[in-house]
Order: sequence, then structure tokens, then C-alpha cells
Amino acid sequence: MDTQTPLFGMTLGELQTCVAAYGLPGYTARQIADWLYSKKIESIDDMSNLSKQARALLNEHHVIGRTPPQESCTSKDGTRKYLFATAHGQFIETAMIPTETRKTVCVSSQVGCKMGCVFCMTGKQGFQGQLTAGEILNQVWSIPEHEDGITNIVYMGMGEPLDNLDEVLKSIEILTSDWGAAMSPRRITVSTIGILPGVTRFLKECEAHLAISLHTPFPEERQELMPVQNAHPLEEVIDALREWDFSGQRRVSFEYIVFGGLNDSARHARELIRLLAGIVCRINLIRFHPIPGTALARTDEDTMQRFKDFLNRKGVLTTVRASRGVDIYAACGLLSTTAAGEKSSE
Ligand code: SF4
Repeated sequence: MDTQTPLFGMTLGELQTCVAAYGLPGYTARQIADWLYSKKIESIDDMSNLSKQARALLNEHHVIGRTPPQESCTSKDGTRKYLFATAHGQFIETAMIPTETRKTVCVSSQVGCKMGCVFCMTGKQGFQGQLTAGEILNQVWSIPEHEDGITNIVYMGMGEPLDNLDEVLKSIEILTSDWGAAMSPRRITVSTIGILPGVTRFLKECEAHLAISLHTPFPEERQELMPVQNAHPLEEVIDALREWDFSGQRRVSFEYIVFGGLNDSARHARELIRLLAGIVCRINLIRFHPIPGTALARTDEDTMQRFKDFLNRKGVLTTVRASRGVDIYAACGLLSTTAAGEKSSE
């Protein structure tokens, strides 16, 4: 007997293949997509405009495949962190960051991460597996805030999205299609450390915003912080970006964690300006949240402001990202499910 595969996370094309294989009318695929992504039903039997035979066939081969979070906690600033179990019994974290005008969900794309950035808790956890498109989207559809509407989605949780690009692109297709969540791609940002072939493919195949983790403009320093620099030097990634126009609706931004005494000097700011010359972009400065096992420190607020002001004066739009959810370890670079995994294997 077939294992029952989840319907949630299938694209319209995949649903069409499915219904064709069961000998069902082609329009059934759109009906199923509507039940999954707009009406958000819990059971195949709730698909009331499908024939009895169609529901029986679907029940035989499939489950809906959405799962609620196992745990949640709330920061004093209102940020919530959710823990989800994957189909393989692993754990991922998701952050929901509310502001007055937005509800942003920060989704994970992998369990752990293989990229080994030295400032990141997820990197320290190592890589445990890829998430499916359904598991990525479950983090959006299965949190209580989904009822009132999610305004923005950022792929900045656990994992490197471009190392799981097929599933990430599939999830974005579902988010942005009229048969899916019909969300504007301008409300979605995918953050990467800059895996060059993935960057190029992402820009070709998708219209969502791109954020590149830069962290230092000097290659030898970046190598120490981010091993990806060896395989995909930043200059090459930035050269590839020059082929694209970011002056329209699609944006590219650069993430820059400011480490005290390491990358917060005027020399760094000047080199950043040189490196990014000619690219319409924004730099987001991020406060570092120290993690165990590294000597990296955060910069002081005055230095951060001076760094920001210098870049803005030179015409590079630069903002400081508000740190959210620090007290519940939901802020940038702090997501990790090592403890949850240990708990579950006890
Ligand atoms: Fe992976 Fe991103 Fe952490 Fe680097 S910063 S280890 S790519 S999750």
C-alpha cells in the first residue's frame, strides 16, 4: 500500500498530476488547492464539493499534512517563538514578529544548517535535514496568528534557504499564486549567505526580495566568519547581482551583523561603499547577540550609530534592525533545536 503523502505543500501542477493519476476531472486540482490554502480544512472529508469517490481516493493515498506547533513562548516585546516537529521527528523553530502594522513570520528552511557560520547557533547545531515545502508552509498556516492574516514572510530562520532551493521555490509558488495564498512576492524576503548558483537561479525563477548576509567586506575576515566565502567569494556574488535591476519593486538588501572591534570601523564602512557601488540596495545593521563558544562581541550603540550615519551620508541607505525576541532566543542567529532534539531522544 502507498504511504499516505501530505497534500499540503503540493503545487497546483503536482495536484493536477495526482488527480490525473486517479482518473479524476482536471478541475478537482484547483478545488483541492482552494481547500488546502484558502479554506484551510483539517480533513479530506471536509472537501465538500468533491465527489465521494474523489474523497475516498484522496483518503486512501493522502493526508492533509498540517501539524500544530508543539510548544510556544512569548517575548516581553510580543515576539512569539514556535517549536514544530517534522515528519522525521526532528524539530524546527519559527518566530512570529508583530509590529503595529505588520505580522511577519520568520520561517526555517532546514533542520539545523551545514554552513557553519561561527556567529550562529543554528550553525553550531549542524545539519539534520531538509524541510519540504509543506513543512516550510506549515510554519505559516499552523500558527494562531494565521487566522488574522500574516503580512510578511522572511526566510531567515534555521537553515540556508538556497541550500534547499527546490522546496523553497515551491513554497513561494504556493504563497504567491492565485490558487495558493495570493500573496505579493514583495512581502516575501529570502535571506542567504550567498551561494552563487542558488542566487542566480532564485533571481531568475522568483520575484521575492533577496537579502545577502555580508558581515564584512574583506574576504580574509569573511572567510573566518563564514566558510561559504571559500566556495563563493562575495565579490563574485555581488558581480552577479550587477546583472539585475533592483531599482524597481524587487529589492536586494545586505545584512551586516556588527561585531565590536571586528567589522565596525571606518575602514569597513569605506570598503562597503566601494563594494556595493552601483547597486541600488539597503544595508541592515544587526546587533550581535553573543552565543557560547565564540569570542565575538557586540559593538556599542555609539559606534553602531556612527557606522550607520557614515553609510547614509555616503548615499547607502542603512538602517539598524530592531532586535526582537532576544529574551526567548528568537532573535537573529539564536534559533537552535539542539535542546529539543536531546529532549526527544531521552
Ligand atoms: Fe546557516 Fe544562516 Fe546560521 Fe550561517 S547564519 S550557519 S547559513 S543558519
